[in-house]
Amino acid sequence: MGKGILETYKKFLPITSETPIFTLGEGNTPLVESRNIAKEVGCKSLFFKLEGCNPTGSFKDRGMVVAVAKAVEKGITSIACASTGNTSASAAAYGAHLGLRTTLIVPKGNVARGKLTQAVAYGAHIALIDGNFDRALEITRELCERHPVELVNSLNPNRIEGQKTASFEIIGELGKAPDHLFIPVGNAGNITAYWKGFVEAHQEGLSDTLPVMNGYQASGASPIVDGHVVEEPRTVASAIRIGNPASWESALKAQNESNGVIDKVDDDEILMAYRRLAAEEGVFCEPASAASLAGLLKRVNAGESFKNKDVVCVITGNGLKDPDIANGIEPVSLDEYEANVDSVEDALSLP
Ligand SMILES: *Cc1c(COP(=O)(O)O)cnc(C)c1O
Repeated sequence: MGKGILETYKKFLPITSETPIFTLGEGNTPLVESRNIAKEVGCKSLFFKLEGCNPTGSFKDRGMVVAVAKAVEKGITSIACASTGNTSASAAAYGAHLGLRTTLIVPKGNVARGKLTQAVAYGAHIALIDGNFDRALEITRELCERHPVELVNSLNPNRIEGQKTASFEIIGELGKAPDHLFIPVGNAGNITAYWKGFVEAHQEGLSDTLPVMNGYQASGASPIVDGHVVEEPRTVASAIRIGNPASWESALKAQNESNGVIDKVDDDEILMAYRRLAAEEGVFCEPASAASLAGLLKRVNAGESFKNKDVVCVITGNGLKDPDIANGIEPVSLDEYEANVDSVEDALSLP
C-alpha cells in the first residue's frame, strides 16, 4: 500500500538489483462502485478505476516510473517525449524527482492547460511545434537517435510493463478479472498494457478468467476502427486525439484474443458521459477518460445486455487537467448576493 509500482510489482517488472527503486505514490488507485449509472446498465456491478488519482493525475505515472527507473539504471541523465499532455506531465515529474533533464515536444494548441502548467512547474524544457502529435513523435524519435536521450513515449516497452499493473490491482480488489473492461484508446498503449496484465495474472493463477476488452476511440480520431491512418485527427478529447497509434497491432491483438471490440464514440457521447460521471457519480475526469463509459452506454442504448456481468470502466485522467472544456460546456457564472443570511436564503431553494 502506497509503496509504489516498482516496489509492489517488482516480481512482474523488468527490475534487477541494479534498478533504482523510488516512488511518487503512483498506483494503488481506487476502484469505485457506481451507485447510479449501474442501474441503467443493468449489470451485476459497475466499477470505475480512478487513474486520475495517480500523482500527476493520470495513469501515465505507472509506466513512467518504470521507464525512468530503467533509464537511470543505464546511466542516462536526460529523457524526452512527445505528448498531448499527460505523458509530458508525468515525464517532467519523475524527471524532476530523479534530477534528470526532461525535454518535451508538444503539438501547439492541442494541449490542455492544466497539463502544460504541470510540465512548466516541474521544470521541463518544452518545445511547442506547429504540427500534430504524430509529427511531434517523429521529431522526438529522431532527436533521441541523435543524442544520448531516452525516449519515454509508450514505444518504450517499460511503459507498457508499468501500466499493466492496473490489471493486477483490479483483480486484487474483485478477486478475479471483470467480465468486461471498457477503456479509452489513443496511442493504444494502455489497452495493450491492461491485456498483458490480465493475461499474466491469469497465467499466475491470480484470476480464473480473462475479461472481454472493449476499447473506444473518438470518432474524429479512430484509425484502428476505420483501418487507416487519420491525417488530421479531431476530437474534444485531446488525450486520445491520435491518428497513427504506436501500439496499433497489439491493440488489435487484445481485441481479437479477448473476443472484444474496438469501436468509436463521438464527441457528444463523450461529453455526455463526462458530465454524467461528475454529476451522477461524483467522478470528475478529463474528456478522453469518459470514452470508456460512453462506449458502455452506447452499447446499452443499442440493446446489449450486461445482466450478471461485472464491468470496469477505466477512468484514465483527472478532470482538473482540462478546466477549459468543463467551463466551455457550463461556463462558471455565479450570481452575487448581499452578505447576509436573508438575501442568501432567498436566492437558494434549500430543503
Ligand atoms: C494517454 C491517455 C489516454 C490514451 O491512452 P493510450 O495508451 O494512448 O491509448 C487516455 N486518457 C488519458 C487521460 C490519457 O492520458
